[in-house]
Parts: sequence; structure tokens; C-alpha cells
Amino acid sequence: MFTPSDDFLARSAAAAFAPLSPKPSQADACAALDQVFALAEQSWQARRTSLDYLRSAPASACRAGCGWCCHQQVGVTPLEAVRIAVYLQDQPPELSESLRQVNARTKGMSTGQRAESRLACAFLSLDGNCRIYPVRPLRCRGLHSIDASFCAASHQDPAGMRAKLEAGQLRPVYLSVPEAIFDSALSGVLMALKKLKMTLVSLELHAAVCALLDDQKLAQRWLAGARPDRTLALVPDKR
Ligand code: SF4
Repeated sequence: MFTPSDDFLARSAAAAFAPLSPKPSQADACAALDQVFALAEQSWQARRTSLDYLRSAPASACRAGCGWCCHQQVGVTPLEAVRIAVYLQDQPPELSESLRQVNARTKGMSTGQRAESRLACAFLSLDGNCRIYPVRPLRCRGLHSIDASFCAASHQDPAGMRAKLEAGQLRPVYLSVPEAIFDSALSGVLMALKKLKMTLVSLELHAAVCALLDDQKLAQRWLAGARPDRTLALVPDKR
């Protein structure tokens, strides 16, 4: 659950966008987002290596090559999708092709259906690494687990694990500190985008980046305030 914050990191992240005027260029908006990524990563690095944190917090089980959490729906802001689409321009075309193939299979799926499909994110390499690591979404950055076997079980039986969590038979295994740090950075980005009059909406990663690849002028329209098509939005589960 994302709870908007107005703390120091959120305000610093928003400040990275301060020099931009409404309808910013794609390059300027992406550069400001890169500043937010750097700011949030520095904040997390400083925290995770502090004596206080090392003494009190459980260790993260996340390792390069472990991609259990990369088999679910990821929500992104329109600007994060733009940043990834720009990054893909300098990557081997197979990566964009892989994105299109996964999107063709997952488009329109709800969060639960996506998890049940057990399909990997198009950007996950066969050896379990993120192929867009420098520009990966803030949501991905904030997810740190203390138990890789929990993540593996959630991948293998998403509905069963969710039911056990809801019944209180299992405890969540995700670290709250990185989640809070990257959520603060996300709050800053949202504040900045609101000021720039961009539409605030959570888009599905694959669908949004595919749409940008298919229409070279779409990024500029979003930066000018156009609302992304509804079919690109995250699809919640029916209750
Ligand atoms: S973008 Fe990268 S980190 Fe995020 S789900 Fe995809 S592979 Fe994993």
C-alpha cells in the first residue's frame, strides 16, 4: 500500500524537478528522475550501512540472480515508463521484442491473474537479473525480502500464500525501511508531476512502455499533460 509522505526525502526528490517548466522536454524530465533515483539510492545505502540499522534490522535476503519477486504486476508513473522507453533505445532490440511478447500475454490481466500466470517480467534475464537496472521503477527498488523461500513460495502459489497472509498465518517478509525510502521518493515525483500538470496515474509497466515504443510522440504528449489511455492502467482484482 502506498501512503504519500511529505518528508525531507520526498521534498528533496520534488526539488529535483524545480528548474523544469510545464511541458518539459523528455531529456530534462528524465534527467530530473535520474536525480531522484540517485538521491533515494544514496539515502538507502547510508541507512543500510549505518551501525544503528545493522544492529537492529534483519538482513536482506535479496541477491543478484534471485528474481522471484519479478513475476508480478509493477505499477509505474508515466515518467518512469518514459525513462525506461528512452533507456531501451540504446539496448539490443531483443529486449524491446521480449517486452512486446510478454505484454501481448499479460495485457489486461488483474494483479492476481498476473501473479497466477507466473510469467517473468520481460526485463528479467535468464540468470535472474534486471536488464534495465539503472532505470528500474521505484516500486522495484523498494522491495527487499528477508526470506527468499517466502518469495519462492509466493511465486509458486500466489493465491495460497495471499490467503495465509490474510488469515494471519504468515507474516510479511518485506523490509519496511527501503519501502519507506523509495515510497518517499515516489511521493516527491508525484508532487513534482502534479506541479508540472502531468496526469497522476499508476500504469502497468509493460503496457505503458510498449505504448511509448509504438508511438514516438506519446512521451511528449504525456509530458504536456495528456491522460494516458485507460487500457494502460493497472487492473485491480475484483473483490
Ligand atoms: S523491472 Fe527489473 S526489478 Fe522490476 S520486476 Fe522487472 S526485472 Fe524485476
